[in-house]
Amino acid sequence: MKKVLVCGAGGFIGGHLVKKLKRQGHWVRGVDLKLHEYSPSMADEFVVGDLTDQALVRKVLDIPFDEVYQLAADMGGAGYLFTGDNDANVMHNSALVNLNIIQQALKVGVKKLFYSSSACIYPAYNQEDPQNPKCSEDSAYPAMPDSEYGWEKLFSERLFQAFNRNYNMDVRIARFHNIFGPEGTYTGGKEKSPAAICRKVAEAQDGDGIEVWGDGQQTRSYLYIDECLEGIERLMESDFVGPVNIGSEEMITLNQLAEMVMKIANKNLYIKNIDVAHTGVRGRNSDNKLIKQKLGWAPSAPLVNGMTKTYQWINAQVHAQMPELVKAD
Ligand code: NAD
Repeated sequence: MKKVLVCGAGGFIGGHLVKKLKRQGHWVRGVDLKLHEYSPSMADEFVVGDLTDQALVRKVLDIPFDEVYQLAADMGGAGYLFTGDNDANVMHNSALVNLNIIQQALKVGVKKLFYSSSACIYPAYNQEDPQNPKCSEDSAYPAMPDSEYGWEKLFSERLFQAFNRNYNMDVRIARFHNIFGPEGTYTGGKEKSPAAICRKVAEAQDGDGIEVWGDGQQTRSYLYIDECLEGIERLMESDFVGPVNIGSEEMITLNQLAEMVMKIANKNLYIKNIDVAHTGVRGRNSDNKLIKQKLGWAPSAPLVNGMTKTYQWINAQVHAQMPELVKAD
């Protein structure tokens, strides 16, 4: 049985990770600004607190944990990260959390430390062609992320790498590409495109139009939470520090994603592409050559499988909130 700390345990990926670690029989402490919104945490201990506060970090990171997963970040979807309105908080809060955690992890002698970086570190200039984005790990420099969120992630990758080089800390760094699934934020402004589209489709009735941001021709790939967790586990078990992409190579346009969800829901809807100022890069897709080479594995499950489970969960949430919609189904 390992002793594990999950930072960001009240969030989407952290919540699922805690469940998996508990199923595997480990002792888990979770910490987050908030409790998980959608399911009670299975952690043995759950501390509600702010990891920008050094005193709190000393309190929760007080023993040489076998593993620490650093998932806490001030983040959200395009509506939160790309407007510019939250840049100062995103950079300040996430950087401080990472600085506090790595320093305290060194002090207490944490055995292995995982850091969740993002595909948002990749340069904007390689993601202008929606059909041919470049996101191989070695293309990160010269750096030009399209958001301050990406710049902070790049800084923190380097922070973790520097502690690995100078203090021999055993770190692992993954660059997640659009992770989605049940029990993730689906409303309120911080939701990402798969959840937002599922919610809109769940709320719509036959004949309605659903809004998709931009011209809908921007491309992305999405990775279901179970394969993300498998990638994390395999990376932790390997001796490869990273950074390495954990993402899907099944690239799809936003409009195609919306069509997929309409089909899953079996609803007759149409797409209304709406002009918004910030839709992010034109194209993005995971490049899985390195993960295959280093871990002998890469995600392979079809997107539609994960989207079906996610739609079913969001649909149930929406209908629980708005029972009058049930009749329309
Ligand atoms: P999430 O927002 O659901 O979870 C992050 C959690 O961190 C939240 O519960 C939040 O309350 C907590 N947090 C933020 N600031 C904190 C603080 N000061 N103290 C304590 N807790 C704090 O996001 P997620 O989707 O679960 O992502 C987890 C990690 O993976 C993040 O670091 C994120 O940047 C990274 N990531 C996620 C994706 C994705 O598609 N979900 C993609 C790339 C990278």
